[in-house]
Amino acid sequence: RPQATRIDGKAFAEKLRARLAAEIATLGFQPGLAVVLVGEDPASQVYVRNKATQTVEVGMRSFEHKLPASVSEAEVLALVTRLNADPAVDGILVQLPLPPHIDADKVLLTIDPAKDVDGFHPVNAGRLATGAQALVPCTPLGCLMLLQDFHGSLAGMEAVIVGRSNIVGKPMAQLLLKADCTVTIAHSRSRDLPALCRRADILVAAVGRPEMVRGDWIKPGATVIDVGINRLPPDEHGKSRLVGDVHYGEAVQVAGAITPVPGGVGPMTIACLLHNTVTAAKARRGV
Ligand code: NDP
Repeated sequence: RPQATRIDGKAFAEKLRARLAAEIATLGFQPGLAVVLVGEDPASQVYVRNKATQTVEVGMRSFEHKLPASVSEAEVLALVTRLNADPAVDGILVQLPLPPHIDADKVLLTIDPAKDVDGFHPVNAGRLATGAQALVPCTPLGCLMLLQDFHGSLAGMEAVIVGRSNIVGKPMAQLLLKADCTVTIAHSRSRDLPALCRRADILVAAVGRPEMVRGDWIKPGATVIDVGINRLPPDEHGKSRLVGDVHYGEAVQVAGAITPVPGGVGPMTIACLLHNTVTAAKARRGV
């Protein structure tokens, strides 16, 4: 049988950013995104830098607030409160993880839900769950866009999501339910995970375990969305490979379509952050 179609998230994200840039040019104002980074976590620094670069590239304003790891919780809350009140700021993103002495839930609750472009505030999670207009977490939103681009309607399809985090698994389930899929959410306590996965027309892996989903867990012809980003320890040549939660080499022989790692879901996340910022800016300004 032929190999699975490779779903090119990098190309889709580029098209989405180009569309956003064209739209922003017609708005008559410049949406602004504020990013708060606490501490020196190297991965977070890379994410924040990429977010800022892409924000400016599509024609928005980027406000970066870098605070030392020693900053107090009260100071972070005060900054978020200032950003809530700042009319130039349409979106606020607090980069996670925060240092242990800062209560991340308290910080997220302080963000104005109308500026919550990560979609992590309980008001947005609740709106998504009840079917109201919501700012939706970027990674699952990106997965949904790739799926709808590939399939058109998803109505009636069996979707199985492995992972139930508030950031990926749960909002992914809500989005697929809204798109009229029949949704199953699996997790670390699920029984017979391979059999559950084999039911899926759409299989989303958001686990954080390198290459856990094997080829024989996949229904022939299914669409596989691999959210995982796992860096393997360096091999004998000192090279450390990035792999997903799906064993790509096996899965590509069985699936109908699959997102690669890297170049699949990953690039969609920042593009969707920019999308959410434009959505928030238009909603706040009544456009
Ligand atoms: P979490 O660690 O928050 O959640 C992982 C989920 O997987 C949990 O629900 C857990 O179950 C479940 N799980 C863990 N082990 C197993 C197992 N053996 N069998 C079945 N289920 C299991 O991770 P995230 O949701 O934040 O992220 C998931 C992956 O996606 C990671 O690789 C992360 O790097 C990647 N990611 C990528 C992004 C991007 O593309 N931009 C953005 C965000 C994440 P339980 O609840 O029972 O513990």
